[in-house]
Amino acid sequence: MTAPRIPLLLEGQFQASAATHTQAVRNPATQEVLAEVPFATADEVDRAVAAAKEAFKSWREVAPPQRARVMLTFQHLLKKHHDELAEILAKETGKTFADAKGDVWRGIEVVEHACNVSSLLMGETVENVAGGIDTYSLVQPLGVCVGITPFNFPAMIPLWMFPLAIACGNTFVLKPSEQDPMTPTRIAELFLEAGAPKNVLQVIHGGQDQVNQLLRHPDVHAISFVGSAPVAEHIYRTGTAHLKRVQCFAGAKNHMVVMPDAQPQQVVNNLIGASCGAAGQRCMAISVAVLVGSAREVIPHLAASFRELRPGVWDDSGAAYGPVISAKAKARIQDLIRQGKEEGAVCAFDGSDCTVPDYPQGNWVGPTLFTGVTPEMTIYREEIFGPVLLVIEVETLAEAIALINANPYGNGCSIFTASGAAARKFQHEIEVGQVGINVPIPVPLPFFSFTGWKKSFLGDLHAYGKQAVRFYTETKTVTARWFDEDIEHPHGPNMTIQLK
Ligand code: NAD
Repeated sequence: MTAPRIPLLLEGQFQASAATHTQAVRNPATQEVLAEVPFATADEVDRAVAAAKEAFKSWREVAPPQRARVMLTFQHLLKKHHDELAEILAKETGKTFADAKGDVWRGIEVVEHACNVSSLLMGETVENVAGGIDTYSLVQPLGVCVGITPFNFPAMIPLWMFPLAIACGNTFVLKPSEQDPMTPTRIAELFLEAGAPKNVLQVIHGGQDQVNQLLRHPDVHAISFVGSAPVAEHIYRTGTAHLKRVQCFAGAKNHMVVMPDAQPQQVVNNLIGASCGAAGQRCMAISVAVLVGSAREVIPHLAASFRELRPGVWDDSGAAYGPVISAKAKARIQDLIRQGKEEGAVCAFDGSDCTVPDYPQGNWVGPTLFTGVTPEMTIYREEIFGPVLLVIEVETLAEAIALINANPYGNGCSIFTASGAAARKFQHEIEVGQVGINVPIPVPLPFFSFTGWKKSFLGDLHAYGKQAVRFYTETKTVTARWFDEDIEHPHGPNMTIQLK
């Protein structure tokens, strides 16, 4: 049986692409081909932008509470289809069902935030800035916005972008990851079912060429990108060179500092979930444990717990994690593990030869623990994006902070401690955008913003929260004066204007 071809959402309807270049979407546990994804033609990309540009003319005039009502219905449909979406997502990403449900749920939370758009669009007013003159600001949409998303959260990250952009009055072209396009396509179907007008959302599939065309397109106003650091740099440079507003969320190397007074069992449980959950393919995964002083005593317990983690397919309820996304990703992680050993790190637990009975074709990589890691090693410098935890031992909190601040990435970090003073010093001095205190993965809820720093984020305004509303809108400032004699005019507003 041939696999179904994923349609484009183009000009208000789902339709087959004329593309000749396609790629298989595979179940990472079995290599079964679930679908074929077309790489849209240049003409289709142009048509998507043109349709979005045309739709903007009327969508921008729709009252914000009416736009919010579309989001309310959309939120309801996403909740109704939560498990169905999670199943599609789990099959194409390899995530466990629990993880897949979390991916969908974190996206739903952003749609809930978008339902609040009317109050998020409120401007500011100062009355009487000079005699009889008022100044106030209006918040208006930009036009056509583009979203380019990665494989690791195929529900959450598209939902970080298009609902808020569209609720603000923009229209949107989404280019999802070619590795797992089925989930965003189903989400787009639900968006239309929610009553979104034709053409406010277009979904174009593809890769590098389609992205590059969008980056240079004269009718695109803003680009939101989430993906790896080298691609983020390319997107940022190219998008800004073409005078777009650009925000890029990129790679990471997230540290968790463990103080000697932290509760050891909590440390082990949290480190395991944060490093190996979702097979380590989270941008906020903890990939480095920085153990301060006697906190090093957790190492044997960590190694023992890594041994107990069992991989499995999406509907195996006892599985702690699934396969990584592709055979290529698996080979890359294995290669990094090999380099770690060659460069002198101690591999306390090696998952590079992981297998799962009945699923010999799966892209399995087991939890891997390295101790004796130093900052020059490749495994420390590169984002591994697999279930690999590095341990670095230091003597003081100040040393831990200096180590993290010297790292070029700054997405997330955390500290485990019983000391308020240590936590306070850490939160104040650390040069990382998202900080957890006894919370391993501090992803903020959508009424805050997702605030990575340094090489983990290129741009000025972050995802969701108030910052995304600023990103997807322009502020217009009006200074107004009304002359007193207008009040007394006998003919009211219908007066004939007479120029002197
Ligand atoms: P990726 O960079 O390979 O791909 C991301 C998107 O860019 C895809 O849609 C892809 O088609 C497109 N793309 C790839 N190469 C391109 C090129 N040369 N030119 C133009 N477009 C190109 O990323 P990925 O492997 O899908 O996702 C994993 C990465 O995303 C990790 O580095 C992870 O840390 C990062 N990520 C970051 C965040 C964050 O918030 N900072 C969140 C999730 C994922």
